[in-house]
Formats: sequence, C-alpha cells, structure tokens
Amino acid sequence: MAQIAFIGLGNMGAGMAANLIKAGHQVCAFDLNADAVAMLAAKGAKAAGSVAEAVNGADGVVTMLPASAHVRSVYAGADGVLAHAPAHAVLMDCSTIDVDSARQMGAAAADKGFAFVDAPVSGGVAAAEAGTLTFMVGGPKDAFVKAEPVLAAMGKAVIHAGEAGAGQAAKICNNMLLAIHMIGTCEALNMAERLGLDIQNFYDIASKASGQNWSLTSYCPVPGPVPAAPSNRGYKPGFAAPLMLKDLKLAMEAARSAGASTPLGAHAADIYQRFVDSGGEGLDFSGVIQMIASDSGSE
Ligand code: NAD
Repeated sequence: MAQIAFIGLGNMGAGMAANLIKAGHQVCAFDLNADAVAMLAAKGAKAAGSVAEAVNGADGVVTMLPASAHVRSVYAGADGVLAHAPAHAVLMDCSTIDVDSARQMGAAAADKGFAFVDAPVSGGVAAAEAGTLTFMVGGPKDAFVKAEPVLAAMGKAVIHAGEAGAGQAAKICNNMLLAIHMIGTCEALNMAERLGLDIQNFYDIASKASGQNWSLTSYCPVPGPVPAAPSNRGYKPGFAAPLMLKDLKLAMEAARSAGASTPLGAHAADIYQRFVDSGGEGLDFSGVIQMIASDSGSE
C-alpha cells in the first residue's frame, strides 16, 4: 500500500482521507484547521504541520481544497507540493476549479516532471464518506494509470475524460446540466400542484414518462416521493446552493472562453444567484423550489 499525503480535510476531504486509511494506505494529513488534522489522526493518519511535511516521502498527493487560489498556493507556493514532493509521486487535485487553472497546474507539474491529474468529483458529503464518488479525470494517460488505484479507494467510478483540464470541463458541463434539470423539475412540480394534480400521482407519471430525470427520481425537490432527498429534511444540504452557484460561474467562464452558447446555463446561474442572495445560502440546491413557488404568487 502507498504513502499518501492528503491536503484539505473539509466536508469532503475528511471522508475521502478516511477511506484511503480504510483501504490500507498510510495517510499523512495536513489542513490549515488543526482540529480537522486531529480528527483524521484519531482515525489512523499521521498529522503534518505543513504541506512540505505532508508530502515528504509520499507516493501520491491528494488535494481537496475550496477553490483555484488555494490550489495554486498549495501546489506552486514556495512551501508547496511542486517544491517538496518526491519526483515519483502522482499528484491528484480533486477540488472543483476553473479549467484554465487546472491546465496551468497540469503544465507546471509536468514542467517539473510530475504525473498530475485534475480529478474533480460528483457526489456530495455522503458519497465522500461512503466511498462512492465519481471521479472525472484529466491528464496524460500514464498519469491517469498511476492515479486510478488511489482514486478507486474513494469512489465507485474513475473515468478518464482526456488531457489536463478535461476532468474540470466534464464536471462543470455535468453540473450545468444538473442545475438546468433541477430548475425545470421544480417548475414542473410547482405548476403541477397549482393545476390541482396530486404530487405523488404526477411523480408516478413523470418518472415513467419522458420527463424522467435524476433531479426528479433521485433527488425530488418536493418532500415525499424520494425519502432520502434533502426536501424531506428541510432542504439541509446535501449539495449546498452556494456550491452549485460556484460551479455555474465556472461553467459560464468556460462557456465564454470556449465560445459555447449556453442561454439556459446563464439563466440557471442568475436563478441560483438570486436564490443564494435571498436566503438560500444555507440550503440544498433543490430548495430553489421554494423561491420558484413564492415567485408564482397567489392564485
Ligand atoms: P471545505 O471548505 O469544507 O474544505 C476545504 C478544506 O481546505 C478546509 O478544511 C480548509 O481549512 C482547507 N484549506 C484551505 N486552504 C488550505 C491550505 N492552503 N492548506 C491546507 N488546507 C487548506 O470544502 P468541501 O465542501 O470539502 O469542498 C472541497 C472541494 O470539493 C471544493 O472545490 C468543492 O467545490 C468540491 N465539491 C464539494 C462537494 C460538496 O458537496 N461539499 C461536492 C463535490 C465537489
């Protein structure tokens, strides 16, 4: 089993790192938050006091950080991964960041001779804890081959999407589609209710008709039809609305740079911005149905 440095032990990283320990890897953990490091040390990790200390002697480095600026500083900073990791280590950034930054990190790592992949995930905190994430991986094939067994210990699927940045590209395309079908599902369910349909009955019809989609049948935004969905626990996340907004902003940035037309993606970004600004900040992204219902006014 390998020695893995894990940097970024937040909502997602803590569960992911614990799964690497369960799989038999020796994990050396670092986070700016000392409590997060102590919690993982209690599960069998070695605690590190810096990035440089965490990557010392590592065969692999996994990072799970909030955004691009954190990824840049952890990899390219003077005390960072590229300056201190052993040359044979495979570097895996699982954070969700913009495509251009992922490509730049890939190039900076390759310049120093490292195998590097961008490997963002689909699946929230529950999937991170259960080890059932889906990894979308960008980078050279030989880097993917080195990263795959490490990522497989934390997920149910590890899929090579293409060269550097392709994992991030796949992630934001997927999440833009998710936002659009969630909003569409909310609009349809709200309208069904206003038209006097019984919601469970409409769910039974739409889930077996051409309106069927993941937001409806795995994550239904009204309570009842899908017991595990956040709608049944007051829209407690789940996948928090600000994280969906972050991904939609990344998608709009990528659409501009690729010259892709995304009118519904742009509209979804505006709707989630308004939801986050008007009280949805602490809620799951499916809670947008509450805003759609209140926009609908009284009959
Ligand atoms: P989080 O904010 O809970 O955790 C990030 C951790 O990184 C924190 O513990 C923070 O202290 C640490 N950190 C920040 N800067 C650091 C540095 N310089 N050195 C060491 N540690 C540092 O975030 P999260 O919810 O775990 O999400 C992590 C990434 O995964 C994000 O990019 C997010 O978009 C993505 N993601 C999240 C979810 C989700 O449901 N939470 C789902 C899919 C993808």
